[in-house]
Amino acid sequence: MNLIITIDGPAGAGKTTTARGVARELEYRYLDTGALYRALALAVLRAGVTDAFSPEALKAIEGHNVAPRWKDDDMQVLLDGVDVSGEIRSPEVTALVSPLSAVPEVRDVLLEIQREPGQDGALVLDGRDTGSVVFPDADLKIYLNADSRERAGRRRLELRRAGIEKGLDDVLQEIEERDRRDSSRPLAPLTFPDGGVEIDTTGLTIEEQITRIVALARSRGA
Ligand code: C5P
Repeated sequence: MNLIITIDGPAGAGKTTTARGVARELEYRYLDTGALYRALALAVLRAGVTDAFSPEALKAIEGHNVAPRWKDDDMQVLLDGVDVSGEIRSPEVTALVSPLSAVPEVRDVLLEIQREPGQDGALVLDGRDTGSVVFPDADLKIYLNADSRERAGRRRLELRRAGIEKGLDDVLQEIEERDRRDSSRPLAPLTFPDGGVEIDTTGLTIEEQITRIVALARSRGA
């Protein structure tokens, strides 16, 4: 059976790496929905706008086209047809994306783009509202969580690999602020989805996370 598997949770819980691994094991596609939000944030920044709630931000988004593309099983995100998968990881994009994603028009624009690849199932997607709003009837909904210091440590390593050095406390503050924003927004907040399964990844390796989710998926017919 071709399942839809959603993986939601706070920043730095390892959602995207896990989603990619689960998809590889099951021979499904994966969709990093945060990358789509980040691509829109990049479009806004390129227009010189930094206030997510200004009319200029909405104007900056108009006329731009965000889309996922799969290459050798890996997902890229395209902004107006150009791969921006690297650029969307910059600290500037990370700072703007959370306020921007609280804007209703932004969520509206991205909803269909997220649902389209799941038409025939066989999709693993990760984000904040993928099990609550994007695919509320998904076959398996995972909520990945971890201690915030551990999440900050993982995010710091990721940044280091991208050549950005940041202190642990700064990273911790940044992810806690982002979680607070993402959980408290009125529209599609980060929340535990109905019928979801929580996995606390504190102390688990990515391989262990993947194995657990694949086992759950197999037990549901994958
Ligand atoms: O997962 P990632 O850290 O790349 O997500 C970036 C931001 O995009 C999140 O902090 C959140 O504000 C937003 N987002 C969202 N809904 C999703 C995925 C991401 O609001 N489904």
